Amino acid sequence: MSENREMMLPSVMDGADFQHGSIFFVGTATVLVRYAGFTILTDPNFLHSGDHVHLGYGMTSRRLTNPALDIEALPPLDLCVLSHLHGDHFDRIAEKKLNTALPIVTTRHAAASLRRKGFTAPQGLKTWETATFRKGAATLRITSMPGKHAPGPLSLLLPPVMGSLLEFQTAGEHTALRLYITGDTLIHEHLREIPRRYPEIDLALLHLGGTRILGLMLTMDADQGVEAIKMIRPRTAIPIHYNDYTVFKSPLRDFQKAVRAAGLEKKVVYLSHGETYGFEVPASRWHPQGRGTTAAAEAVRPERQAPTSYQSATATSATNGDGRRGSGISAGLALLGGAGIGAAIMYWSAPQKMAGGSRSGANGKSIPSHRKGSAVERKPSGRF
Ligand SMILES: [Zn+2]
Repeated sequence: MSENREMMLPSVMDGADFQHGSIFFVGTATVLVRYAGFTILTDPNFLHSGDHVHLGYGMTSRRLTNPALDIEALPPLDLCVLSHLHGDHFDRIAEKKLNTALPIVTTRHAAASLRRKGFTAPQGLKTWETATFRKGAATLRITSMPGKHAPGPLSLLLPPVMGSLLEFQTAGEHTALRLYITGDTLIHEHLREIPRRYPEIDLALLHLGGTRILGLMLTMDADQGVEAIKMIRPRTAIPIHYNDYTVFKSPLRDFQKAVRAAGLEKKVVYLSHGETYGFEVPASRWHPQGRGTTAAAEAVRPERQAPTSYQSATATSATNGDGRRGSGISAGLALLGGAGIGAAIMYWSAPQKMAGGSRSGANGKSIPSHRKGSAVERKPSGRF
C-alpha cells in the first residue's frame, strides 16, 4: 500500500467555505465536522439508550444516552474517520445503514475487517500515514496519529486504535485549519511526537470517559484529559466520549474540575449531545489577498450569516471584541499571533443547541431537534 493515497470527491457548486466551520456533537465519539466544503462523520455510533455493545471476550456495555440524531437524518457525507473497531465506535446500525461506498479512513486492522463486511472504500493507515481527499479547490489530508488503548501488552488484546489529524488546505496548499481527534487512547510516550510534528493545532476532540473494564483504564480520564491538553497544546479542546456507556467511569464534572484546577477553562468548550460548535477562521489563513498582511483581519468582518442546517452563524463585532448575542448565540473574539505575519483574528462562537422543531437537512430530510443530554453550561469562548 502506498503511503500517500489520494481521492477526488465530487465537488460542490458553491465552492469551499474556508471561513466558517462547525462541529456537531451526536454522542459518544460521533461528531459531524463541516468545513471547507467537506462533511465528515467520526466514529459512527447510533445505538440508543438501553442498547448493549459487545467489547470482545464476552464483555458488553449498556448505552446510557441517545444519539442526537438517527443515522437516517445524517446529511450527505464525504467520508468517515474511524479510530478503531469497537461497538461504541462503529456499531451494528452503522454497519447496516452506512453507504458501503463511503470512504472510511481508519486503522489497517479496521479497514480489513470493514472490507470483509462489504465496505468498498476503507483506507487503512499505519501511524503517520496520510490519506488525501480533494474536493473542488479544497484538500483534506488525514494523517494517522499514535494511539494506545490499554497499558502494556494488554493492548494486544484490544483492536488497534489511531488518532487522526485533519488538515484542511486551500488550492495554494496553505493549511487553513488543523483538527486533532485523539481516538480512544491513554496518555503515552508516543503522543509527545504529535506536538513536535504539529506544533499548531487549532482544535482537539478528546475521547475521555476513563473507560474501565475489569478495573483497567482504557481511555483518558479527567487528569489524563488535562495532561493531553498540556501536551498537545490545541487552541481549543472539546471533550467527547464521556457519558454514553456504563464502562465510562470518569464523569465530565471531574474533567471540568481538573480543567479549572489547571487554569485551562479558556481552552475548553463543552458540548452536550445535539450542540454545535461553530467557528470562523481568519482570512489570513485562506484568502489569497489576505495572507501575510495585517489587513487580513479586515477581511474577516463578521456578519450575520444565514443559518445552515446545523449551525446558525455568529454575530459579533470585530472592533469592540465583545460577545454580542445574535440569534441566541454568543461569540468570542480571539486574537492570534500569526507566525510572523502580525495579528489575525479568529472568532469561535459558543456552542448552540439546534433550534427546536426541525430543520431541513441538505438531503431534504428533516433533522430532529436535539434530545436532552446532560446540560453543561458554557460561557462565551475566550481569547487565544
Ligand atoms: Zn470507546
